[in-house]
Amino acid sequence: MRLSADVCVVGAGAGGAVVAAELAEGGADVVLLDRGPRHNPDDLTARPPEMLARLYRDGGQTVTLGSPPVGLPLGSGLGGTTLVNSGTCFRTPPAVLARWAREHGLELDGGVLDPCFERVERALSVGPVTPELAGRNAEVARRGAAALGWSHGYIARNARGCVGSGVCAYGCPASAKQHVGITYVPRAEAAGARVLTGAAVERIAVAGGRARGVEGLRTGRRRVALAIDAPLVVVAAGTVETPLLLARSGLGAASGQLGRNLSLHPATAAFARMDEVVDMARGVPQSLYVDEFAADGIMLEGIAGPPAHAALALPLTGAAHAEAMADYRRLAQFGLMVSDSSRGSVRSVAGRPLVRYDLCDADLARFRTGLARLRELFETAGARAVHLPLPAGVEPRRARRRDLKLMAFHPLGTARADASAERGVVDGDLAVHGVDGVHVADGSVVPSSLGVNPQITIMALATRLALGLLAT
Ligand SMILES: Cc1cc2nc3c(=O)[nH]c(=O)nc-3n(C[C@H](O)[C@H](O)[C@H](O)COP(=O)(O)OP(=O)(O)OC[C@H]3O[C@@H](n4cnc5c(N)ncnc54)[C@H](O)[C@@H]3O)c2cc1C
Repeated sequence: MRLSADVCVVGAGAGGAVVAAELAEGGADVVLLDRGPRHNPDDLTARPPEMLARLYRDGGQTVTLGSPPVGLPLGSGLGGTTLVNSGTCFRTPPAVLARWAREHGLELDGGVLDPCFERVERALSVGPVTPELAGRNAEVARRGAAALGWSHGYIARNARGCVGSGVCAYGCPASAKQHVGITYVPRAEAAGARVLTGAAVERIAVAGGRARGVEGLRTGRRRVALAIDAPLVVVAAGTVETPLLLARSGLGAASGQLGRNLSLHPATAAFARMDEVVDMARGVPQSLYVDEFAADGIMLEGIAGPPAHAALALPLTGAAHAEAMADYRRLAQFGLMVSDSSRGSVRSVAGRPLVRYDLCDADLARFRTGLARLRELFETAGARAVHLPLPAGVEPRRARRRDLKLMAFHPLGTARADASAERGVVDGDLAVHGVDGVHVADGSVVPSSLGVNPQITIMALATRLALGLLAT
């Protein structure tokens, strides 16, 4: 299969779908490729075990190697990881943008990104969740935070017509979550972009120092070789895959930073046994944040789900697990995310990504504090018992790395942006240093952890890239 276009975009997630739609609507002839399938909204059953297998890469069982291992789930299909995300939308904190200006020479502070954020927020119908929709799980945490005098608030989300199905991470069965697979991808198609699923890009073709297109494989009833001829390639395969694709293509390695500087926002969650009926899956799972400790790199955010979700996450075993699950209606859950100083790496082993990540002392200390805070939050809210994600008898302040049960949802940084070709893989305009016509627009360019969920940061950067390309 051979096609030609003005631009080939690789990956239809947060970054790629936005670039493809903006470029196509601006008049460019775009081909958008994604390795995953197109999911029919009617097939989203809201049952976690089924949806994990279908919507996530490797059934959601991807994990980092290191101390401790960290579960690192990634979405698969049109929409990328936005298909399975919680819909939380925070703009990049100004202090982070100011740090990037100082440390990476990126001119993104001082309101430069504001018009892009506004454009993204309009496209995704971003607005605050109402207390009713937030549900009783959020109410438990809100009550605790209010009594403790901790700063907190309802989260802004990309949702329209949300009925609080409580399964954002397993594919919204009401198509209320405005993920890019049902917003930007259809917009790209309406503007004439050709969207190919099952299209795995193997390498970017380069000749004479500039992009010529991409090569890969299209799977379906038959496997066919795929080639797209295009003078402009935008790589948006995500933080785990993008550095591998660039490396396979012999690009982006000059700075020595490709595949390095991986931040994760490692996270964990605690459960509480309440006297009241909580029904945690009724309402929006991630609807409340507590940012009292954000300056210390600790953000508390909601998490919840139906019984199959709780059963997987509940840090109990045997009879205690069975007894707590029998009392599911009175279970509450809340999460904790660390703005990490630890840095990991991604490299290819036998053609698959191997992610290395070790938690540093500073982040271990953040988890110790954060877990103690989570317990305080629940106890103040009236919990009968709190189940922390630690082995029995281990107190938060004594927790060791291997005691922590971590997951991470926000990998960033493996093709980081830096104005200097010696320090970054892409420049401030997201162009890969040392080659013409190759840009990156996904989490991999984000040079540090943000302290907040990253999807609209990635989308705003992608918007800026697309508008910049259209202007040249
Ligand atoms: C459970 C969960 C909840 C989350 N909740 C939130 C939230 O509430 N708010 C928030 O801001 N963020 C959230 N996130 C994170 C957010 O969704 C991601 O940061 C964001 O989607 C990353 O965007 P991306 O463009 O870098 O990659 P992705 O969105 O992952 O897209 C990458 C795409 O590239 C495709 N691809 C990969 N390799 C190739 C290849 N070789 N050829 C072709 N295609 C390829 C993949 O199939 C995928 O579709 C969550 C993540 C998870 C897992």
